[in-house]
Amino acid sequence: MNTKTLILPILVIICGLGVVAFLGFTNDSENNSQNNKANKKVEAAESFESNYKNLNLNQKDTSMSDYKVKKDENEWKKELTENEYRVLRQKGTERAFTGEFYDHHEKGVYTCGACHEKLFDSKTKFESGSGWPSFYTTIEGNVKEITDRSHGMVRTEVVCNSCGSHLGHVFNDGPKPTGMRYCINSISLDFEKE
Ligand SMILES: [Zn+2]
Repeated sequence: MNTKTLILPILVIICGLGVVAFLGFTNDSENNSQNNKANKKVEAAESFESNYKNLNLNQKDTSMSDYKVKKDENEWKKELTENEYRVLRQKGTERAFTGEFYDHHEKGVYTCGACHEKLFDSKTKFESGSGWPSFYTTIEGNVKEITDRSHGMVRTEVVCNSCGSHLGHVFNDGPKPTGMRYCINSISLDFEKE
């Protein structure tokens, strides 16, 4: 075997190693770019999450400062029963035909179950057949309307304008003179007899 016959296989081996190294490099760079993409996604998700948390905190701050009656959720929890808290502070809904006031006909004023602000006059109560106390209007300025996009629907939520507690929803299928139907959870209300 002379030197020339040795050089050829050595060259082949060197070239082969070069190709392997090159392929390895391109694979690495692909992996790196995939990793970078994944990292970017994680970063984006994390920043979205932290923004979302901040947004929630901000909303909480705003909603608390928006209302005359300022109490934190722990205070409400202490003052309200579990069911009252679930509806008034967590926007729950009582079962139809189970509340204290859907079939209630005394003269007086319905007040907020949380802060006792006057909300509805018994003169504006009507039989809606829904199983929830229903009114065609509110005591002016004391009930606030908010767009509610939960449960895949767009509805108008009504809350107490003094403390922000959830009362129910308002619909435009009510009787004259307003055509509105304020559909309210009994548990969100108290009653002051005339
Ligand atoms: Zn209230």
